[in-house]
Amino acid sequence: MPNTTFDRAPSRGHAHDVSLDDTFDFLNTDDTENGSRVERLPTLDSALEWFVGRGVIHGEGADRVRSLAVSSPEIGARDLPRVYAVRGALREVADAIVEERPPRDGALDTVNRALHARQVIELVPASNGCVSVDHRHVGDPIDDALARLADPLVMELTTGHPERIRICDNDRCRWVFFDASRNGRRRWCDMSTCGNRAKAARHRARSKSESPDDGPVIATL
Ligand SMILES: [Zn+2]
Repeated sequence: MPNTTFDRAPSRGHAHDVSLDDTFDFLNTDDTENGSRVERLPTLDSALEWFVGRGVIHGEGADRVRSLAVSSPEIGARDLPRVYAVRGALREVADAIVEERPPRDGALDTVNRALHARQVIELVPASNGCVSVDHRHVGDPIDDALARLADPLVMELTTGHPERIRICDNDRCRWVFFDASRNGRRRWCDMSTCGNRAKAARHRARSKSESPDDGPVIATL
């Protein structure tokens, strides 16, 4: 629900250092606002812009997708559903981790298909005459972006702390976040929004139960 993370748009060149926060921010683009669903990536253009902002797609790659969507609308029409499908599958995997249950049918297949489209690391001759490491993109730019966004969740499962993945306790938010608190008992995606809202609601409930208004209503004519 908090909107601040959408403002972060560092330029990362060709490094593509995608973090788990980026992955969760991507999942949280399927957002809720006051309990209603809000799509933060409503168009192909907005999704491409988001990918470029997070450094998971190059500007030229995004332009390539845009011009292909114009020249071949039937291909372009599949782009946004692909983004939503992988995002939904990743969210399902995150939910399953939090709820300690197997993911629903198809979610793993969708994520795995996305992972196969990842970049390929290869050795290349270096400018100093030795050897260097480079990568090349094998899938189309969207496939590649989705693979890069899936990576941190996979890494968290294999070498990180998946038990620290949380869903915000605010039912009108439900953002996915990583609990980096010392005691591992963080309940809200953001204390200043969801945490405070919960505190205020508790306070309201408490003062209501203590309020004399709860006594018998005396009808006045
Ligand atoms: Zn929240």
